[in-house]
Amino acid sequence: MFNALVLTQEDKQTLAQVSQISETDLPEGEVLVDVACSSLNYKDGLAVTGVGKIIRNFPMVPGIDFAGTVLESSDQRYKAGDQVILTGWGVGENHWGGLAEKARVKADWLVPMPSNCDAVKAMQIGTAGLTAMLCVQALQKAGVKPSDGEVLVTGASGGVGSVAVTLLAQLGYEVVASSGRVEENAPLLIKLGAKEVIERSELDIDATPLERQRWAGVVDTVGNKVLATALAQMNYGGAAAICGLAGGFALPTTVMPFILRGVNLLGIDSVACPFEKRQSAWQEVIKLLPESYYQQACQSISLAQVPDFSQQIIKGQVTGRVLVKL
Ligand code: NDP
Repeated sequence: MFNALVLTQEDKQTLAQVSQISETDLPEGEVLVDVACSSLNYKDGLAVTGVGKIIRNFPMVPGIDFAGTVLESSDQRYKAGDQVILTGWGVGENHWGGLAEKARVKADWLVPMPSNCDAVKAMQIGTAGLTAMLCVQALQKAGVKPSDGEVLVTGASGGVGSVAVTLLAQLGYEVVASSGRVEENAPLLIKLGAKEVIERSELDIDATPLERQRWAGVVDTVGNKVLATALAQMNYGGAAAICGLAGGFALPTTVMPFILRGVNLLGIDSVACPFEKRQSAWQEVIKLLPESYYQQACQSISLAQVPDFSQQIIKGQVTGRVLVKL
């Protein structure tokens, strides 16, 4: 028997409890993993609290990512003792996930642990950090260069946001961080490499279709009016990589930035991202993220603390990344 966070539903309320489960309870899959770490992402917060209708079948073990050691594998790509990472593929949503001491998953969903990385580092980065790297790579591919001018990161104190600020700064971009918690988090965001921190309220407005041009690039984790304003403020030919909806899934914009300024909107999905792209993003994020990120922007919690931190993350009260040690 081993520990797992198990979600059940009673009177339409989601209940989260640390319980003992056994290997025979785990779903089918080719690879059994001894999970060393998981992490807390916004989507985990939605699932564990039940605020987002992420989970349809109960009981469910949440946890959209994990890292650990292979115990058994019937797939030739993996053998006992291999270090692996999993993010996405609906794990922790419709297949039992990483907030348990063991997980059984499909071999196709795994990525071998990159060199210079271990389970702790992998989950300090986690789904959020991988997504930040995919956003940065999308901007690079769209031709946004450090010499083009300022790059905006919205929801900058969060997991995706704080990694994006750090990666962009490491690559030499002039990073402007937008946050709803400037007083609390500006010192950290400056340490991570932002050259300026602006109030979220400056962007959370009913912008006109075209505003004064300011951003060469945008990494958006927030959506809604914040993104609409950022789009109206983009430089001619700029690009926005968008991955999140922490401020809502609406996008109250017009076609103007796209048809008059040639702005590019780049949709980012980490969940079903193909293996080669995923592996290259892992290698790049590990290469670029400095030790100072892990020291300054990551905290560690136990399985029992996950329900409490889930409440906090959906209220926008968590800063940086949260590692869950199993
Ligand atoms: P976090 O909670 O760590 O970060 C979100 C940040 O957004 C907060 O820290 C806060 O930053 C800001 N925020 C919170 N609430 C609001 C609000 N009501 N209005 C505006 N801003 C708000 O979450 P993650 O970094 O894990 O995820 C960020 C987003 O990206 C989520 O929507 C998540 O679902 C999405 N995501 C998408 C992925 C994909 O594959 N497309 C993968 C991973 C994440 P501050 O206080 O600085 O303003």
